[in-house]
Amino acid sequence: MAMKIASVLLVTAGLLLVSAPASSQDLGPHFKTVKEGIITYVAKPDESNCTIILTSEGVVLIDSGHNPTDSQTILKAVKQLTPLPIRFLINTEPHADHTTGHYVFSPPTVIVAAAGATQSMKAAYNPRRIEQLRGESPEMRAAAEGYRMVTPQIEYNDKMTINLGERTFELMYLKNVHSESDTAIWLPKERIVFTAASIGVKRVNNLRPSVTIPDTLAAIRMMKALNPEVVIPGHGVYGGISLLDDNERYYTLLLERVRALVQQGRTLEQIQKELKMPEIETWAGKDRFNTNVDAAYRAVKG
Ligand SMILES: [Zn+2]
Repeated sequence: MAMKIASVLLVTAGLLLVSAPASSQDLGPHFKTVKEGIITYVAKPDESNCTIILTSEGVVLIDSGHNPTDSQTILKAVKQLTPLPIRFLINTEPHADHTTGHYVFSPPTVIVAAAGATQSMKAAYNPRRIEQLRGESPEMRAAAEGYRMVTPQIEYNDKMTINLGERTFELMYLKNVHSESDTAIWLPKERIVFTAASIGVKRVNNLRPSVTIPDTLAAIRMMKALNPEVVIPGHGVYGGISLLDDNERYYTLLLERVRALVQQGRTLEQIQKELKMPEIETWAGKDRFNTNVDAAYRAVKG
């Protein structure tokens, strides 16, 4: 009798071992569980994040990893987590560090992005980038096997909702915050917002000429108004609402100071030399600060 119970227990334990899904710790050092079934791959601070979201009807990915090796690592992790397919891949932006790895997933995964993503990817396409990557290491060469540019199959204007299993994904186009096609994603039940590259984590962003600080502040305030519990940026370690607060404070101060200097009659060149921002002394990426001063100057001058 005792033998019988013991063998039943063993069989049960064996079944549990087989059916228990992998936890993020089993997947490798870069995977962090944000909430149950939501796992973010946070690579190096300046590389792009990818988030795996499990649902009862399949997986949704937010971006596809920084480089092909990251994308292959993410695909392997998904296979460890679930036998279900990756149904959708939502792009927060069209730049190569968020989109090169699409070929690893699609087909069959359907890629969704804000309008303008395909055009942006095609315009910026540089065949030398993948060649350089292949030359980096044998691992990268192997990971890049089968590479081709895969553009989004679906582009939306302004807003879009995806319902999959028990989860809802609200996609919101963010105007003029980073690229031609930036998407914030809000999970209302989980209270998680994906900000795209509209904010940096203790890091100065490169503000291209199409980016405006008033639009960026509007995007930050819109996302703050959602009252998120978790804020996951395009790059850098995720956190709470303070990530949005930090960026709002920084851009507000920057605008105030540039406005004051313009009112004192300073030129852009003088402002670039004179302006001090001790508040961001510890931030990375300060070589991009002048692009932020330019954007603030454009905003003040109208
Ligand atoms: Zn980018």
